[in-house]
Amino acid sequence: MHKSYIIAADIGTTSAKTLLFDRSGHILATHAVEYPLHTPRPDIAEQDPEEIYQAVLAGIQSVVRQGAVNAGEVLCVSFSSAMHSLIAVDDACRPLTACITWADNRSVGYVKTLKDLAAGHEIYMRTGTPIHPMSPLLKLMWFRDNRPDLFASAHKFIGIKEYVFARLFGEYIIDHSIASCTGLFNLRQLDWDVGALAACGVRRDQLSLPVPTTHIVQGLNPADAASLGLAPDTAFVVGASDGVLANLGAAAFEPGVYAVTIGTSGAVRGVVREPVTDPKGRLFCYALKEDFWVVGGAINNGGIMFRWVRDQLATAEAEEGRRLGMDPYDYLTKLASEVEPGSGGLIFLPLLAGERAPYWNANARGVFFGLSLYHQKPHMIRSVLEGVMYRIHSVVRALEELSGPTLEIRASGGFARSEFWLQMMADVLGSRVSVPNTIEASGAGAALLGLLATGEIADFSGAHEWVKVHHTLQADPKTGDIYDELTTIYNRVYHQLKGEFDAIAAFQQKYTLT
Ligand code: ADP
Repeated sequence: MHKSYIIAADIGTTSAKTLLFDRSGHILATHAVEYPLHTPRPDIAEQDPEEIYQAVLAGIQSVVRQGAVNAGEVLCVSFSSAMHSLIAVDDACRPLTACITWADNRSVGYVKTLKDLAAGHEIYMRTGTPIHPMSPLLKLMWFRDNRPDLFASAHKFIGIKEYVFARLFGEYIIDHSIASCTGLFNLRQLDWDVGALAACGVRRDQLSLPVPTTHIVQGLNPADAASLGLAPDTAFVVGASDGVLANLGAAAFEPGVYAVTIGTSGAVRGVVREPVTDPKGRLFCYALKEDFWVVGGAINNGGIMFRWVRDQLATAEAEEGRRLGMDPYDYLTKLASEVEPGSGGLIFLPLLAGERAPYWNANARGVFFGLSLYHQKPHMIRSVLEGVMYRIHSVVRALEELSGPTLEIRASGGFARSEFWLQMMADVLGSRVSVPNTIEASGAGAALLGLLATGEIADFSGAHEWVKVHHTLQADPKTGDIYDELTTIYNRVYHQLKGEFDAIAAFQQKYTLT
């Protein structure tokens, strides 16, 4: 029987998306199951592993049914997964904890512990995961000290994708990509890092076996196969993290081509041929394959800043937009476009949620700087949109230090619905910005990796056929000059306020305002 289909299973933080592809990259069916993030306390962000497992199964079943696919026609099921999750399981793979996600902040105290150790920076340099509470390394340090019985007795500590594979096949395997986001994995040796394991006290036998991202597992039990609508020998490709697959799926992997995604948060990523870590500790380095590594930085305050404007700062204007039958975001960007670039010298530091790359400062807070009686609401709206781009600018410049000047930016995420915001990015960065026509970059990346794993393609050069550029915007140098002046001031203001950020964060914590 001809194997015509590829299924991509993308296990995200808010939902599991499953996509049915044909061999030319056309999406024939999709299915998404949302699941909640449990936050009983502000520092806890957990999910139910069983719920996610069932969502993955439901997604596969659904796309097989929607596409009227016969068992045996599926070339492979290939996986993408959110990074940094951690679950303790017993020897029957029963969860002893919830799935602790990247957003969980309980291990925040260990940032200082690790940064104070000379070995802490060395561990980052070998493992490529910034020292941050998202990192499983820090989560394990927290377990060691706060749940010592569980820490010693847990059979395995695994991520959500390992859980899915263990449930389906009874094997504990972790791909090099997800392993490279744990803070425990030596990028150059492609193996667990002895120093990192010692720093948290986890035993090697408590971790999964690292395998390449193209590793294939077969042998579904007949009941699972029948319920999924797949043949028992269907190839399951272990796959990689959603971050690195998004670069592949947006065909952003040539030197100087950087992917910028701005949804709720944001990220800038580029591809290098061998692992590089940042002597200043600002950027991550995560694996896809031996010769495909993704370096970059994530920001907390991406599209969520515009949502804050819509819901808090410009509610009357947003309402006016709705009354006119417009998407409120479109109405607000229209207002912003009517004032001059640079918002009349009003600078916004969009640091409401603290900040990750490049300065990793959880105490940073938002600032309007330069307000005068001249400024009206549209200036404030515009300055917030510009402020998000100044954040992206500082990550892009840090990335350029490691992997060379920008030739092109590939944009994705909710912000790419706005031509105005895209043009602002081109002007702030002084770079060409192109928008690929796929919105499911991680899923497309997983499908391409599946084709490589099954020997159907020899390399990723065909990705350009899958992912066409929808349109391109050019930077305007005159507007760019204005933004150059303002980014310089923006950066100085940030650095001068560092001590004051700590003071105000301490105040807010004391009065439990955060
Ligand atoms: P998620 O991170 O949940 O996947 P999205 O990728 O859908 O989110 O991005 C949501 C964000 O995209 C919003 O918070 C907003 O900042 C931005 N956005 C959505 N629609 C528009 C629009 N029409 N114009 C400008 N920005 C938009």
